[in-house]
Amino acid sequence: IWPGLAGRTALVTGASSGLGEHFVRLLAGKGVMVTLAARRLDRISSICEGIVDAGGLAEPLPLDVADPSSVETVLSGRAFDIVVNNAGTTLSAPALDHGAQDIDRILDTNLKGSFHVARVAAEAMVAKGGGGTIVNVASILGARVAGNVAAYAASKAGLIQLSRALALEWARHGIRVNALCPGYIETELNRDFFASEPGQALIRRVPQRRLGQPSDLDGPLLLLISDLGRFMTGTEVVADGGHL
Ligand code: NDP
Repeated sequence: IWPGLAGRTALVTGASSGLGEHFVRLLAGKGVMVTLAARRLDRISSICEGIVDAGGLAEPLPLDVADPSSVETVLSGRAFDIVVNNAGTTLSAPALDHGAQDIDRILDTNLKGSFHVARVAAEAMVAKGGGGTIVNVASILGARVAGNVAAYAASKAGLIQLSRALALEWARHGIRVNALCPGYIETELNRDFFASEPGQALIRRVPQRRLGQPSDLDGPLLLLISDLGRFMTGTEVVADGGHL
C-alpha cells in the first residue's frame, strides 16, 4: 500500500537509537535498502545485523552530521532515493543556562547538520538525473514554543523553514523536501522524564492524553517518502496527539 518504496535506497541519520532506529526497521520491512548513519558504530552495526537477519538490506555508516567535512567525505559518491534527516540533540534548561557550546552543539546538529546532509545528498540526486525525497525530522516545538528549550526550538523552527526553502529550489530537480513534526514521543532518552510528575503533567495537556509511540509516526513518514505523497513538498506534517 506504500507505492514506490520497495527497492529504493534510504539514508537515515541518527539511526542508532529512538526514532531513527524505529524508522530503519520500518523501511527495511517495506523492502527499502537502508543506510544507518550515526556516531556510535557499535549500535548501528548491531541494528544492521538484526535487519539483515530478518531478511532486510542494511549497512552502517559512521557519520557526525555536525562536522561538514565529514559529511562531504562520508557521503560523497553515494546516491540515495530517500533521506531522513533525523539526527538530533537537545538541552532542557532555561535560556540563561544555555552555554555557547550547548547552543553550537544543538544548532550544528539539528539545523546545520541537516542542511549539510540534505545538500550533499541532493547533489547526488541531481547528478543521477534528479528525483528523490528528503524528510527533515523537526518537532512541534519548532512551531509552538515551550519553556526550557530555547536552542532546540530555534533549531527546529529553522529546520522547518529550511525545508520550505530547499523544496522551493529543488522541485525543478524532482526532489521533494518536507518536515515531519512529532509531538512528545516515548524513546529511551525521555522515558524517565515522562514517568516523572512534570512529564505526566505535560502529557495531561495533550488532547489525546497520551505519549506518542515511535509507531505513531509510521503513517506520516511513509506518506512523505512514498509516491502517495508525490504532490507534497515544502510542507509540514504534524503528529502530536492534538496540541501541546
Ligand atoms: P535519540 O537521542 O534517541 O536519538 C538521537 C539520534 O541522533 C541518535 O541516534 C544519535 O546517535 C544521533 N545523533 C546525535 N548527534 C549526532 C551527530 N552529531 N551526528 C550523527 N548523529 C547524531 O532521540 P529521538 O529518537 O527521540 O530523536 C530523534 C529525532 O526526533 C531528533 O531530531 C529529535 O529532535 C526529534 N524529535 C523527537 C521527539 C521525541 O519526543 N522523542 C519529538 C520531536 C522531535 P549517535 O549518538 O550514535 O550519533
